[in-house]
Amino acid sequence: MFTRICCWILLAIASFSLSTVPAQAQDPRKPVRLNVDMRDATKHIFHAKLVFPVAAGPLTLVYPKWIPGEHSPVGPIVNLTGLFFRAGGKEIEWRRDDVDMFAFHCQIPAGVNELEVSLDYISPSSVSGGRENPSATAQLAILNWYTVLLYPQGAKSDDLTYTASLQVPAGWKHGTALPVASETSEAIEFQPASLTTLVDSPVLMGAHMRVIDLSPGQTPAHHIHIAAETESGLEVTGDLVHQWKQLVAETGALFGARHYRHYDFLLTESDNVETDGVEHHESSDNRVPGRTFQDPNISDAMTDLLPHEFTHSWNGKYRRPAGLATPNYQEPMKGGLLWVYEGMTQYYGTILSARMGTWTPERLRENLAWVAAYLDQRKGRTWRDLEDTAVAAQLLYASPEEYRTWRRDTDYYDEGTLIWLEADTIIRQVTKGKKSLDDFCRKFEGGENTGPKILPYTFDDVVAGMQEIAPYDWREFFTQRVQTHGPGAPLGGLENSGWKLIFTDTPNESREASEVAMHLTDVQFSLGFLVRDPGGENGDEVIDVIPGSPAAQAGIAPGMKLVAVNGRRWNPDDLHAAIRQAHEKREIIELLIENEDFFRTYRVDYQGGERHPHLERISGKPDLLSDIAKMKAAPVPVTRD
Ligand SMILES: [Zn+2]
Repeated sequence: MFTRICCWILLAIASFSLSTVPAQAQDPRKPVRLNVDMRDATKHIFHAKLVFPVAAGPLTLVYPKWIPGEHSPVGPIVNLTGLFFRAGGKEIEWRRDDVDMFAFHCQIPAGVNELEVSLDYISPSSVSGGRENPSATAQLAILNWYTVLLYPQGAKSDDLTYTASLQVPAGWKHGTALPVASETSEAIEFQPASLTTLVDSPVLMGAHMRVIDLSPGQTPAHHIHIAAETESGLEVTGDLVHQWKQLVAETGALFGARHYRHYDFLLTESDNVETDGVEHHESSDNRVPGRTFQDPNISDAMTDLLPHEFTHSWNGKYRRPAGLATPNYQEPMKGGLLWVYEGMTQYYGTILSARMGTWTPERLRENLAWVAAYLDQRKGRTWRDLEDTAVAAQLLYASPEEYRTWRRDTDYYDEGTLIWLEADTIIRQVTKGKKSLDDFCRKFEGGENTGPKILPYTFDDVVAGMQEIAPYDWREFFTQRVQTHGPGAPLGGLENSGWKLIFTDTPNESREASEVAMHLTDVQFSLGFLVRDPGGENGDEVIDVIPGSPAAQAGIAPGMKLVAVNGRRWNPDDLHAAIRQAHEKREIIELLIENEDFFRTYRVDYQGGERHPHLERISGKPDLLSDIAKMKAAPVPVTRD
């Protein structure tokens, strides 16, 4: 998901009317000063003061609404509080626009050249599962500047300059891609930056932090800044650090150029923030559960997060669909090409997890098998094409899990993986192995080494770029994949690469790790449902039921609760045992289900046994997948950190 920055429009018009588009009363030559005081972060409140250069006349300031990387109008306006405007020593009255909740109108009196704005941002104190989640805990905080600022309505973020300073709690350290001008024990002063760059440069801070150099001696520099709830949370293995260094090298081999002055991975390890990742041009905001690096299941499930967010520096930030390359944070975004922005990034996040050495080729195949299998039975594709999931991204990010297979989800991520794998294999076949999708990346997203900038693209540009690498009817290929209602997932890439999707009674290694990490039991390919494990929040809840599956035919639906299997209080092991027993003894499985205040036993007629997805070699076909997964850069020397 994420990003950018700044200058001014001076239109001092004496007349002031809220009923017309207000003219802007600012001085275009001076930056906005912004001070953010995070010393109350542990109380979940951030304080900010802004000083705008202004001239007499009407002025409208706005709070960022459309957040880069979120692809949605989720600026946390409800948590903007304590808003005061002052000028010439007096309080200035502001009035919120009665249609646009993010806009605040005021009138700058004559003889005044600065407007002071103070505001507070309330960081939610608990993980809600929604889009607005905590950014501060008792031990750490992440500051996204867009939560604590206003800017003049109508201005382009590239045209505005902000000079920011920051105060952090005593003893806390910080990490950010935003260049620092000076630092004292009292405050950090940052170099002036465009509003685009400021919003694109979050700051991670905390009581327990460490920094690791991932490309020692090289330009541009790459660092990872880790913040955790405790000192022990900062411990990562030397192997993992070595793999992160290899990731940096692999992106060099893949793209051939970099579009940042330096790159800073910000990594938060905590159960008190939501697991998430947001991309930026020169950094990424990666949030993982506590104990991620101590628990192999969580660590495995989180592997592709850093490769995904890092890939976005090229695919998403430097090259961006024109509909997402908006001039400021009020202009609506159009997500129709997210199957490129997120889909190709998801593909390379997966592939780079193998190239950097974290996932074995077998582990990569387990991931692809799982993705192919669950998407292949997405019944929602009968009414909704993939492109519609991208267009409706702003709705789907917040959609509930119930009936997800029927509603569809943000499928352009994982289905993008399958589409771009297929495109990769077609290039390799058409060019007889001389070219691959890596060549497209190098040409389309690499190019020259530059600082951050945006080159927008359209669907036609993607088609033309692919055509340059390999002659093929790419327009028809992509149109078929994203605008039609095929009965199943696009599995051509697996087949082209020498593998086919099969089901066996052996658990899928990829899904097994994520089931443990997410506290759920997945029997969607056998009985046809997913259920939250007992004991946790919403424990026993049936998350989703596959339409047409044995569970659906028996009458079970999402939102019900599983109580017992064959007369005994359920647990994951016994549920799996019941599936095996039904297969061996040809029995009906009885599930006691709680539906609000009522209990009922559902008889599920299924004797097919355990079914878990895997990939199997197609004999006689070249194994392109293993070639794709191979390390492409020179191995990074092993060092002790
Ligand atoms: Zn992404």
